[in-house]
Amino acid sequence: MTVTKTRSGGCACGAIRFETRDRPKRGGLCHCMTCRKAHASAFNPFLVFDPGDVTVTGAASAWESSPGYVRYFCPACGSRVFAKNSGQDGRVEYEVSLGSYDEVGWFEPQYESWTLRREPWLAPLETPQFVRDRVS
Ligand SMILES: [Zn+2]
Ligand SMILES: [Zn+2]
Repeated sequence: MTVTKTRSGGCACGAIRFETRDRPKRGGLCHCMTCRKAHASAFNPFLVFDPGDVTVTGAASAWESSPGYVRYFCPACGSRVFAKNSGQDGRVEYEVSLGSYDEVGWFEPQYESWTLRREPWLAPLETPQFVRDRVS
């Protein structure tokens, strides 16, 4: 029998809350310029889930940063919480920000993408490295 673990998180002010079920499909760090600016951070740690494994409460604002890729944030405190990625094949995935979880230390990034934009003072993780988007 598999025990499904639910983890929760939300924005800094608490207006947006979410729960995710079980382990993410994958997760990594993105150093791309859009993630840097959208998160006002040197990189974006994210976890990928199927839509059925994510429940969000609260009214998030949204910005489509590229076709099919919508970034959701709290209109009150400005925190980035998750993004919805609609692939060209119609497949939808949620990317939840690691920093939005209430719990620390339960997930380690499995790869890094857009290392082209990584700050030179950040050491690479001992994971697969992708100069641009992840190649599967
Ligand atoms: Zn908020
Ligand atoms: Zn990115």
